[in-house]
Order: sequence, then structure tokens, then C-alpha cells
Amino acid sequence: MGPTHGVLGEPTLVLNRSWMAITTTTVRRALSLLFQDSAHAVCPRTFEVHDFASWASLAVNGDPFVRTVRMPLRMPEVIVLRSYDALPLRTVAFSRRNLYRRDSFMCQYCGVRPGTEELTIDHVTPRSRGGRTSWDNCVLACVECNKRKANRPPEEAGMRLVRQPVAPQWSWDVELGPSRRDSWEGFLPRRNGHGNGHPANGHHAPANGNGHNGANGHGPNGHH
Ligand SMILES: [Zn+2]
Repeated sequence: MGPTHGVLGEPTLVLNRSWMAITTTTVRRALSLLFQDSAHAVCPRTFEVHDFASWASLAVNGDPFVRTVRMPLRMPEVIVLRSYDALPLRTVAFSRRNLYRRDSFMCQYCGVRPGTEELTIDHVTPRSRGGRTSWDNCVLACVECNKRKANRPPEEAGMRLVRQPVAPQWSWDVELGPSRRDSWEGFLPRRNGHGNGHPANGHHAPANGNGHNGANGHGPNGHH
């Protein structure tokens, strides 16, 4: 609760001109877009839209805020872009962390779950044979399987993959992880729904302002 130095680094949800959630940005960047009039701030309870001046004139009533030289400025938790209307194709970034998640911390050759330190990232087709570092060519392998496979494709090593590796499907759950704010619920598809980034409910979502909005940030925010 209350002001912290970290507020500017907290996430703001970004909607396109059609009120579809497309990404998140930092509060710092959101304020800059607001100030440049490239975006408007949306009150997550009332769905009212404000330009910078109007937003700056709002009272901070227990809402998260940013301390400025002149006065506390309500933190923009949701902004709507004024001209961008597309829906970007979302993909899950290829990263070590996301690969561990996709493969459920399990060796993709023998199925053991030995713990993070005992798992390595294996190139199914070795790099020396032109194998790429990508979702469809990288899997988790335990140290033992990695050793046994060595610098060979699985067929040559007489090994088999538990399943063929593919890129995980993008979803808001994956994208936001624990940095999802309660105040965004009216703008995002329901949790566990098909997270294809089409909330479809736009600003007709019910404003069930049941007082969740006061909490200022839930723990450490955003990875990358
Ligand atoms: Zn193994």
C-alpha cells in the first residue's frame, strides 16, 4: 500500500483503440504516453476515460498513486491507446524459464524430474548439425540423458523424445504470471479461458468494483 519508489516500474495494462488488452507497460511509460496524448487513462472501476489534465485532477482516494513534485498523481493502471487498433500476434518468448515451464521440469527423454540443477537444455538436432535454438528444437534433458545422447540426434543415440517439442501457446496467464493486477480483470479474458488475447467484452464488462483496487502492487513485478 501507499507510495513506493517502485510505482513507476509497476505494470500498466495497455488496451488498443478497440479496448482489447494487448500488452503491459510500465507506469512510467504509461504516464509518458498519457502526457503526449497518445493514450488516455481508464478508471478500472468506472471505465471513465481521462486525458492527462483530467487524470491529474482526480483525487487519490486510497488508489495507488505516484508521488510527483506538485501532488500525488493517481497511478494509471489501465490506459487505452488513441490510434493503435491492431491486435498483435502474441507468442511466448523463448527463454530458459519458459522452457522449464513448458517441459514441466521433466527430462524429455526419460521422464525424470531431478530438480532444476540436474536439468540441461538439449538441442534435439545438435547445433553442430545445424539445429536451431528454438522452441521446436530445444528440450529439457537430465544430465544422464544429455551425456548419453552426446552430440547426436536422438535416432542415432537410440533415444526417443517423450513428445515432440513445440512453442507453447500464448495466454495472458503465461504473459502476466503473478504480476496480474485485480483492477485489470474487467479488461482481460477470464482466467483459464482461451487466452488468445480476444477479451471480446471490451468496456461492456461489468464494473464489479468490489474494493480490490486499493492494493498497490502484488509483490515483485514483471519479469522482462
Ligand atoms: Zn533423462
